Amino acid sequence: MKRLYDDNLYRFNEPQASYWEATAGDRPVAVVGLQKDETCDVAIIGGGYTGLSAALHLARDYDIDVRVLDAGHIGWGASGRNGGFCCIGGTGVQRRDLIKLYGEENAKDFVRAQVEAVEHVRRIAAEENLEIQASGAAELEVAHTPKAFDRLQDDHELLTNTYGVDSEIVGADEFRERYYDSTEQFGALISRPGFALHPLRYCKGLANAAVRHGATLHEHSEVLEWRKGDDGLHRLVTAGGAIKARRVVFATNGFMPEQLKPEFYGRTMPVVSAIVVTRELDADERAAQQWRTDHPTINCRRILNYFRLLPDNRFLFGGRGHTNGDARGERRNYEDIISTFHRIWPAWSDVAIEYRWHGLICMTSTFCPSLGQLEDDSSVFFSYGYHGNGVNTASWSGKQLADWIGNGRSPQLPEIVKGLGRKYPLPGLRMKYLQLGIGVSAWLDRRS
Ligand SMILES: Cc1cc2nc3c(=O)[nH]c(=O)nc-3n(C[C@H](O)[C@H](O)[C@H](O)COP(=O)(O)OP(=O)(O)OC[C@H]3O[C@@H](n4cnc5c(N)ncnc54)[C@H](O)[C@@H]3O)c2cc1C
Repeated sequence: MKRLYDDNLYRFNEPQASYWEATAGDRPVAVVGLQKDETCDVAIIGGGYTGLSAALHLARDYDIDVRVLDAGHIGWGASGRNGGFCCIGGTGVQRRDLIKLYGEENAKDFVRAQVEAVEHVRRIAAEENLEIQASGAAELEVAHTPKAFDRLQDDHELLTNTYGVDSEIVGADEFRERYYDSTEQFGALISRPGFALHPLRYCKGLANAAVRHGATLHEHSEVLEWRKGDDGLHRLVTAGGAIKARRVVFATNGFMPEQLKPEFYGRTMPVVSAIVVTRELDADERAAQQWRTDHPTINCRRILNYFRLLPDNRFLFGGRGHTNGDARGERRNYEDIISTFHRIWPAWSDVAIEYRWHGLICMTSTFCPSLGQLEDDSSVFFSYGYHGNGVNTASWSGKQLADWIGNGRSPQLPEIVKGLGRKYPLPGLRMKYLQLGIGVSAWLDRRS
């Protein structure tokens, strides 16, 4: 199968050597490879948050016979590899530009849905008793330059007065007293709701809950072929067997095998994001940077970094990955990320890095998520394009798809997310667009 990145990024049999894999506890219960032909009502391709959330709600809220197929293990994709930020976002468009592009009411609907999506994760974790290791109670967006602080002040005004989001702006001195200090700290915007979690534990928790409510999950069951028969049933073929289903949910996001169905070709732009995690920092080391927060934090660069102190006092630091996905690019990229980490917190320059891994986030040509039902085949549903903010968005989207299927009609969705979205012009050139976009963003970051 021809893919956008090097095969290195699609080794479905290999888990990432991540901190999350090392600390996720038991495997989900009762998950086996598909070994014979089976039939179900709804088949879901992709066992990350989108697919598992859809499966959980279909089984629990609508008693629908649902199966999930994942090419790797459950949570193999971005859902098992992310930074664990459960915060508002979900788009690559600045909040002021959302209003310009879509109008104030549509922009507000979208941001309201983002807030609801964060609360949804908290609610489902409580309802299903998921052990997600939640920490922090807000998201911090830190100005890396004085100029960036001006933009944050504008954002604060917009968030508070237009979007009605709970936010607060703090100057550099107050920030240092309350949160931390660094060479790139010029004040921050604090927004709520937002918290952090253990992404793979959350993913496995969703899987267990889906099974408990009657869903069937198949891992190591890559869908190699998808066709629709004269009987109107979809046939999803894997190496071990095939599933026949009345309806299909396509939930593969950044790892989308777009050749499976022509309608999805050229709609997404997967982008590598990479994370490093240090050994545990002791109290003196934390004090050296005045670190005293467990809120998930990002900076304001166009190519941003995301970071947080983990519950066991290790430090997680993430940023953009490389643009071809091969092993050499991967190594060089980790070196860049680590040197940025050292530049921002010089006191931690000697702290050993113990974990490093990466994965694909998913962008779209509109820089907004896409959620819906195919126009020419109402038995196919999809959701993707969370722009590196899928913990809440994918979980919420899975529930929207389940409600749509369960009730037989579309739920109330923000206009901004509806439908397939535009194809990239000349999709074969997507990696060139990406390289160009990254080059321009890096140049603008250097100037700011
Ligand atoms: C390094 C990194 C850091 C991130 N940090 C954050 C963060 O802190 N907060 C946040 O909100 N978001 C973050 N994200 C984004 C977030 O993880 C994703 O948006 C979200 O997990 C997407 O969930 P999903 O279920 O749609 O896709 P995924 O979790 O990627 O799942 C897709 C699944 O599809 C499967 N698949 C692919 N092809 C096939 C096939 N042919 N047959 C069967 N299965 C197939 C894959 O194996 C994969 O498991 C991050 C992403 C990365 C990579």
